[in-house]
Formats: sequence, structure tokens, C-alpha cells
Amino acid sequence: MTLTEATCIYCSKAKPFTDEHVFPAGMGGDDHSYILRKLVCGDCNTNVFSPLEAQLMRNSPYALARLHQQPTSRVRGNKPGPPEFAHDRCEMVDKDGHVSEAQLVVGGKPMTLSQIQILDGQVKLVGNDDARITAFLAELPTLLGNTARVIVKIPTAEGAEFDVTEYAWDGHDYQEKGKTLSPKPPLGIWLDSLAGSKGQAIGWPRIYKRHHGQIVLRVMEPADAASFLSGTKRTLPTLAASPFPVARYVENPVIRVGMKADPQKIFRAMAKIGVNFACHEYGDQTVRSSAFDSIRGVIMNGGEGVPLADMTHVQAMFSVDKRLVHVVVLFPQPIEGGHSLAVLIRLYGGGIQMFLIAESVSLPSETTPVVFTVHYLENKIERLSFSSYVHYLTVQMRLAGTDAGDPKAPNA
Ligand SMILES: [Zn+2]
Repeated sequence: MTLTEATCIYCSKAKPFTDEHVFPAGMGGDDHSYILRKLVCGDCNTNVFSPLEAQLMRNSPYALARLHQQPTSRVRGNKPGPPEFAHDRCEMVDKDGHVSEAQLVVGGKPMTLSQIQILDGQVKLVGNDDARITAFLAELPTLLGNTARVIVKIPTAEGAEFDVTEYAWDGHDYQEKGKTLSPKPPLGIWLDSLAGSKGQAIGWPRIYKRHHGQIVLRVMEPADAASFLSGTKRTLPTLAASPFPVARYVENPVIRVGMKADPQKIFRAMAKIGVNFACHEYGDQTVRSSAFDSIRGVIMNGGEGVPLADMTHVQAMFSVDKRLVHVVVLFPQPIEGGHSLAVLIRLYGGGIQMFLIAESVSLPSETTPVVFTVHYLENKIERLSFSSYVHYLTVQMRLAGTDAGDPKAPNA
């Protein structure tokens, strides 16, 4: 075995390897035949690829599609979980204009989170699950003890630090005691703004429990925290003793979702999928060549993204494929002295992204484009020639032309 064969195809270091899914398992990748073994190191997998994939799966426009179209995040293992969607904010608005903190869960269904809202002395307890409301109310006395801590996460170059404000209970109110900067968040309440993009308050000031645990306070200004927490602490015994709200289901709600996606990271995650498929198709020696250095650099370290091609015509053609599949195409194009290699990716039936992953790579002269369809509900990848995929599309187009109904896929 030569040294190159014992090194990672991405970072070139000789480190312990871990199995790498050619296509991310959480988005329906194949757990059996599309695995790169002894080719990608654990460091790249954990420290570079996992955060990139998380961005693509939970914090991108594709995350919303994933939530609607993929009921479980993966089939392998004993705990297939629902897909997660990381939004900055999600609010449900009822017909009276009342706003509640919500979260989108599987199927894109909105769920009201357990929360207490207070405005001008009026208190509302909101939620749609008795067990969750009970757990939320049981958690608050600990957080609102003689001391309460309000935390703000501050991103830094190395990760994050935490701005912690401490409040002391004087028997009637919380009084600010002091601020500290901490490398780790203490047990406390997370502070977020109630203000929307135009600076207006979105709903009543509120304290709520996120689906995955954190307790969050939303007020207009940090200075409003003390009075809101005082009000909550005073009403807590009454709330815990009174029956839960009855009307918890909102009819025809309006849902507002806000998110901050990082296009650079989403591109890097897609480029990695392209290089993985190239490695699986043409072998690791091809991908190790210097032709891939540039795209490897982008995937590993970011930097300038590769310009995406305008694919309007291809888009129209591919859109006749209505199956629940992702499509990845490797496009070798003969050039002088070799091939250029482009990748086309279509996720959840959305728009097509196409980019170059190698400008001049040595491939057998007869190499033709190849299509991979990722059947994400079955965690199964199919490989077919580009001409047979185009044939499939043409048949679908003809069916769509003669029949008003949706064309049925052969294996749907
Ligand atoms: Zn590596």
C-alpha cells in the first residue's frame, strides 16, 4: 500500500478513517452501497462535513422541503428521528391577530410552543400539549429562584461566548445585580428580541420553551427583562394551579418563518456531495489528482464559491420528474487533453445547481454523463446513464402532454 492510499482524499493526512456516506444519510442517502470506506478521515467527517451538512439539512431553503417531504431523517439505526428545521423565528398568528411562538415539525405542521405571554398586566398561558405545558411550568421555579440569569450568545472567531446578566429577587421584583462574560452558558434563560425586521413588536412579550429544551425570553429591550421575569415569577403559582387553556388549536393559522442561511456553506456541502460521487464513480486516484485541488480548497476552507451556471432549460426538462428523489449528475465534458467535470444537483425537486468540480481531469475517453437518483424515503441510490434518464424524462413529458393527471413513475 502506498502512502497516498492511506491518506484522506480531502485533507491528505494519514488519520483514522471513518465511513463517509456519498450522499448525506440524513437526507436519504444510501447506507449500503454508497459509502466511501477508508478514504475520508474522522477529523474531516466530524469537524468539517457534519457542520456543513447540518447547514444544508436544517438551515437552508432545502430544510423546509425536507421537513415537508421526508417524515424521518434516516432509517438506519434504532432511533430514526424527525428532521429538524433551524429557523431564527417562527410565529403563528390566529384570526384575531394574536401571535404565538411556534415551531414547524414533521410534515411542515406548525406546533404552538408552551409559553407565557404578559402585556399590561394581562397574562396568557399558551401551548398545545398538556405534558409539555406541565414540564415548562415545572422548570420555571428553578430558573426564577432568588437569582435569575439571562444569557445572550455572542459569536466569536473561535465559537461563542456568553453575556450573562444576573438578577436578584428582593421579595417583590428582580433587580439587576451585574453582568459577566462566560465561556460556557450557565443554567438560565436565553434572551431574544421581540422586534421584527422593521423594529415593531411581534406579538406580546413572552417566555417559552423551545421544542428541544431551551427556555427563551422575548422582550423589546434587554432592560425589559427584569420586569417581565418579575411578573412571571409573581403569576407562576396562580398559573400552575389554574386549569390549562382550552382553545389551543388555531384554525387556519398564518405562519411566519424567518431564517438566516449561509449560501457559502450550503454550496460547500453540495460541492462535497459532487466530489464524493466523483470518487465513487471514477475512483479515489482521480479525485486525489491536482485537478480537484481547487474544489477541495473551497470545501475544506470556504473562500470564493464557484459560479453557478444558469440552468433554465435543464430546469424545465428535469421538472417533469415528480418522484420523491434527489438527482445528482456527473457531467464529464471532453476538452483538449482530458475532461472537465461538472456536477448538477437537484434536491427535493427544487432548483438545479450546476458547478464545475474539476477543470481538467484525466478520464477514459469514452466516459459519458451518469445520473444518480437518491430515493430519499427508501435510503436508496440508483445509477443510470444520462441517456436513459433523458429517455425517462421524455416519456414523462409525453405522458404529461396527453394526460391531465400526474404521470406515475415506474417505481413510485
Ligand atoms: Zn481528512
